[in-house]
Amino acid sequence: MAFKKIQRGKKPNWQKDLALERIKILFSEAKKQEPTLAKRYVTIARYIGKKFNLPIPLPYKRQFCRKCNTFFKLGTNSRHRIDSEKHQIIITCLECKNIKRIPYITEIKQKRKKQDL
Ligand SMILES: [Zn+2]
Repeated sequence: MAFKKIQRGKKPNWQKDLALERIKILFSEAKKQEPTLAKRYVTIARYIGKKFNLPIPLPYKRQFCRKCNTFFKLGTNSRHRIDSEKHQIIITCLECKNIKRIPYITEIKQKRKKQDL
């Protein structure tokens, strides 16, 4: 007896495309709204990402706090600094004081490659 294979947890591609579109819309709306509503939009976007097993696109990933879901607006609720010794961008959330470090080693390597050529 042959059983039909059931794919559990895996969502079809058309659903994933829709989910990605929704995430993009939510982030673009969060940019325009006031902080409390923006926070809500970010939580919804992250929830959709979890449900459809989708990573949040890189440019959006750096725009919110992973701990408290605050949407960063430069100069109001976040501090962006560059550590030139460790080659990192340090983003501090001013609401929960969570620190996020992003290395920029790959950018330096690309720059060196261009100079060699
Ligand atoms: Zn935070």
